[in-house]
Amino acid sequence: MDNIERLKAMAQRAVDSRREWLISASTTVLNRPESGFREVETSRLVSDRFSELRIPHQKGIAITGLKGRLEGTYPGPTVAILCELDALPAPGHPHADPDTGVAHACGHHTQVGVLLGAAVALTNSDVLCELSGNIVLMAVPAEEFVNIEDRWNLYQEGKIGLFSGKQEFIRLGAFDDSDIAIMSHTFASSSDGKFALGGTSNAHVGKYVRFEGKASHAGSAPHYGVNALQAAMVGLNALNSQRETLREQDVIRMHGILIAGGTSVNAVPDDVRYEGRVRARTFEAIQETSEKMDRCLRAGALALGAAVRIVTVPGYMPIINNPLLMETFKQNAIQLVRENGVVHYSDVRNEGGSTDMGDLSQIIPSIHPYTGGATGTGHGNDYLIMDYDQAVIKPAKAIAMSVIDLLSEGAAGATEIITNNSPPMTKETYLAFQQGRLTDHLYDCRTGI
Ligand SMILES: [Zn+2]
Ligand SMILES: [Zn+2]
Repeated sequence: MDNIERLKAMAQRAVDSRREWLISASTTVLNRPESGFREVETSRLVSDRFSELRIPHQKGIAITGLKGRLEGTYPGPTVAILCELDALPAPGHPHADPDTGVAHACGHHTQVGVLLGAAVALTNSDVLCELSGNIVLMAVPAEEFVNIEDRWNLYQEGKIGLFSGKQEFIRLGAFDDSDIAIMSHTFASSSDGKFALGGTSNAHVGKYVRFEGKASHAGSAPHYGVNALQAAMVGLNALNSQRETLREQDVIRMHGILIAGGTSVNAVPDDVRYEGRVRARTFEAIQETSEKMDRCLRAGALALGAAVRIVTVPGYMPIINNPLLMETFKQNAIQLVRENGVVHYSDVRNEGGSTDMGDLSQIIPSIHPYTGGATGTGHGNDYLIMDYDQAVIKPAKAIAMSVIDLLSEGAAGATEIITNNSPPMTKETYLAFQQGRLTDHLYDCRTGI
């Protein structure tokens, strides 16, 4: 057995020795789901587990994020391993918090176990002493791009500067010392193998929209009111009439929810709020579709004589899975689940979803492979982890083994990836681009109010 294989075998044994500890960390988080930038208990759990492993770490990055650090014996590049801390609103999910209605309907609780598992493997002193470079362990809040009203309030209070966890980690400089980034995410598929690699994702922007009308008695004086709900409905119908103009190759999604629809059935609604999303494969398609959405929403305000305030917040970027890094992960995944257990999609495969790992991938070489173990539909009430070995233990091993490939033998593997990567953006151009996408416009058609 060569040296690298010996280190990988040690790493796997270390993960196996903590199997129950890792799975219990994930199921504890499953049973205490928290929404983005509010993951207080989840963050505390990760901090406690890091302390148990004697991993020095910073807390409170982007409110609830953490960053642990492991230093190899020799100098070299730094590899970031990430997990996402947040759950999302899914009140019908069997593991939903009865008070907040949020649930781990995207399986992020498994990522906590994966991060800790990779940490267990790499803190093993026999492994770490052979590595050239460092590992940073990033527990990142708020991947689900939801509750935009809440985040807009946090933004206005100066508590965040961008609207998701990885965006904030980038902005705050938490990734400044990272050269490469790796994470894994669960997916539900019985036919597509145990790991799925490759593909890309949609970019997006978020919309926080507030229609303002005039309240009045809905029975005796509707003629004195301005109905903000009707304004929103005209706007959303107009939006639907745009759908035939969308090109299939742009993979556009226009979707949203009413988050406030009025307060009293016997009063004309004067405050109606909509949270919307425009996704597409390219920024050009997003810009064009975002303008269509704004036009339609304004049409609703115009028709009813209401006002509409549209805040557009910078969303995510398409993911670029680094091919060399993916190949490294793939070979390790094959060792764990054999060749037919690994599906590798083409670089352009885009199922329409989005992730802020896309943002990081625009700046440093990154991968976002998927691991099985889940059943049901992502974000659905039936999305459940049925196989914690595949959802936690195997990806933890695959990530640790990949880091060993990257940082052993003088970090030749990592150096090759870094040298051959030409990222589309720097941190500075990324932040300028994202901050330039934030707009706040009021379109006021009210008269005499
Ligand atoms: Zn999700
Ligand atoms: Zn997710």
